[in-house]
This record gives sequence, C-alpha cells and structure tokens, in this order.
Amino acid sequence: MVFFDNNATTPLGKNVLDAYKVALKQNWQNPSSPYRESAHTRALLEKVRFEIATSLGLRKNELIFTSGATESNNAVFAHLGKSIKSKSGCLISPFEHSSVIESAKYWFDGRIHFLPANEEGFVDSDRVLDILNSNDICLVSLMAANNESGVLQPWQDIARMCSSRGIHFHCDATQWIGKKTIDDFSLCSSFSASAHKFSGPKGVGWLASKQPIQMQRGGGQEGSLRGGTENVPGIISLLTAWEELKSNLNIYRDLHLWRDQFERDLMNAIPQVNILGKKAPRLWNTSLFVLPDYNNLSWVGKLDKIGFSVSTGSACSTDKNGYSSISSSMGLSENESRRLIRVSSYFEQTEEDWCNLASAFAQAYQELNLESSESSVISI
Ligand code: PMP
Repeated sequence: MVFFDNNATTPLGKNVLDAYKVALKQNWQNPSSPYRESAHTRALLEKVRFEIATSLGLRKNELIFTSGATESNNAVFAHLGKSIKSKSGCLISPFEHSSVIESAKYWFDGRIHFLPANEEGFVDSDRVLDILNSNDICLVSLMAANNESGVLQPWQDIARMCSSRGIHFHCDATQWIGKKTIDDFSLCSSFSASAHKFSGPKGVGWLASKQPIQMQRGGGQEGSLRGGTENVPGIISLLTAWEELKSNLNIYRDLHLWRDQFERDLMNAIPQVNILGKKAPRLWNTSLFVLPDYNNLSWVGKLDKIGFSVSTGSACSTDKNGYSSISSSMGLSENESRRLIRVSSYFEQTEEDWCNLASAFAQAYQELNLESSESSVISI
C-alpha cells in the first residue's frame, strides 16, 4: 500500500522505534524518584526539552510536554477562559481543528468571533485589524497550516497585531511543524504541536507558552504545570524524530512540484475535478479536491483496492452531520462535501508514487463509471 494520508498521521521515522524501545527498557524508572538511575532518566527528559526548545528559539521552561495538540489547544482555551474575568471574547478561524473550535464553544460561549477568510480558505489579515479594534478580544487562535486543504495562514502577521495590543495569540502549528522549516514561533504567545505528525510516536507533543499555563494539578511534573508521570519513551523518541526531521527539511522545497504534477494529471483524467485552495500558499504535500461523481467513500474503497490509502478529509474535523469545517467555510454544498478527497504525502512518497496515484484515480473513475452503468442496466 502507498500511504497518502500523512496529515492524519505519519509512520515512525527510521530510528524512532528503536529509540522508543531502548527508553522503555532502560529508562523505566520514575523520573521524579530520588536515586541515580531516575536522575539519569530525568536528565534525558531535560535534554530533550533543551534541544527542542533551543531549536524553536524558546527558553527551556517555556516548553511543556503534553499528550499532543488536542490537549495543548484545550489547555490554552481553558486557561484564558478561566482567568479572564471580563466578558472578552475569542477570535478564531472558521476552519480550526475541532480541539480549538470545541474549546472555544465551551469557554467562550456566545463570545466567539470568526476571522474573515476568502474562498481559498485563506485568512484575510487586512480585515483583522478592524475586528480587533472594534471588539473586546482576549484570545486569538489561528492554525499555521490547515490540516485538510494544506493552506498556509498568515499567522505571523496576526501574531504581530495581537502582540502590539497585548492580546494572547495562540497558533496550532500541528501541520506546519514537520513539513516546513521552523519559522519565528517566538512571535506567538503560545503554540502547539504533535509528534505523530513528524514521524514521532503518538500520544506526545507539546505546548510552548511564554506565560505559565496551568494544565493538571498535583505531582509537580513539568514545572508543576502538568502533573502526571511523564511519557518517558514518547518524549525521548520524539527527539529522535525531530533530529531525523531536520535532515528531511533540507529537501522539501521542490517536493510541491510532484503534487502539482499530480493535480495536472488528475485534471486531465477527470476534467471536472475542483482543487481547493489552489491559488493560496499551501503545504507542499497536500491536495484537497471535489470529484465530479460518486461518494468519497466509494473512491476511498476503490483506491484502497488499487493500493493507495487516501482520506475523505480529516476525521476529527467533521461536524455532527458529517461535514468538515473546511467544506462549509470554503462554500461547498453538502453534496460537494460528500465528494471531497484529501491526499497528503510525506518524505517517503516518491515522484513515481504521485504519478501512480493519478493513474489510480483514472482507473478508479473508469471502474466506478462501469459499475454505475451496469447497476443502471440491472435496475431497468
Ligand atoms: N490540530 C491539527 C491541525 C491537527 O491536524 C490535529 C491532528 N489531526 C490536531 C490538532 C490534534 O493532534 P493530536 O492528534 O496530537 O491530538
């Protein structure tokens, strides 16, 4: 199978499993215990924190290891929601991950404003100043790269606007970190990331924050901000994934050309395909499109049989009716949403894989057309 759903998760990096296993076996002591072997494990955790924080341009105590981005995003909204006494609201994009949207609904019920975005799914930073000037807002949250369309957002501009007004700016950087070089995240008041999006293990990530954000009480771990015995093998092998990522990031610059060629081939094979976010700056690995016919699950099934894993969009961003936040914010009808497919590569997929993927869509279309004409003959 060729895996084209890397925005959902990535396979473990080359040496990550070994690093995980070694840590599980050799660093099983509780890092908080008072003897030497525990001190060694504690020192390893602090080394990871130092290395990651340094490469992100942060101080060590600004990086808190969490179970991943969902927890980190929730923590920011809970912290601001509880500590702001006034009736201040929050400002988010309409296509944030559900961990941001649901947290906003819970903590800022009735006080949520939405960032204006164009039909490409790109936030219009020129209109944000007006919103900030005419509303009482204490928290702005904008993802760096959208998990479904791959559209890169102007988070640096919005971070600067917030900083000059003393507004907390949070960035969900989950899809950016692992696919783009590290930008100036020190512009953000806080940002989140998740190791399984950059070939690390699942269940570990971080919240980076300039101000202390109280997450879990008790235990005293993570500078007393997130009590609970640390995920030692997860954190240690996260560093292995991070180190492997650095060498991969040197080569990503031209990889969008393969995705672009795939989109041209796809449009040649199926001319009515509508590629979303095509005119906006996008992640090099992602393509989101509406197919002209057939339910997306039929496409996924066909592609699966031909040997490719693709997605109907992001499972965690679908609303209770099954439509993703990106489709409604990009103006798709419910019917179009049912024909939405996302493909996303990572560093393992080759130019040939992208070419073969386009051929697989052409083959799947032929087979679906054939099945549909046969079934209409039978029904007559
Ligand atoms: N934010 C974005 C943009 C994501 O794509 C995801 C994962 N789909 C998350 C947050 C949640 O990450 P995690 O799996 O680490 O909780």
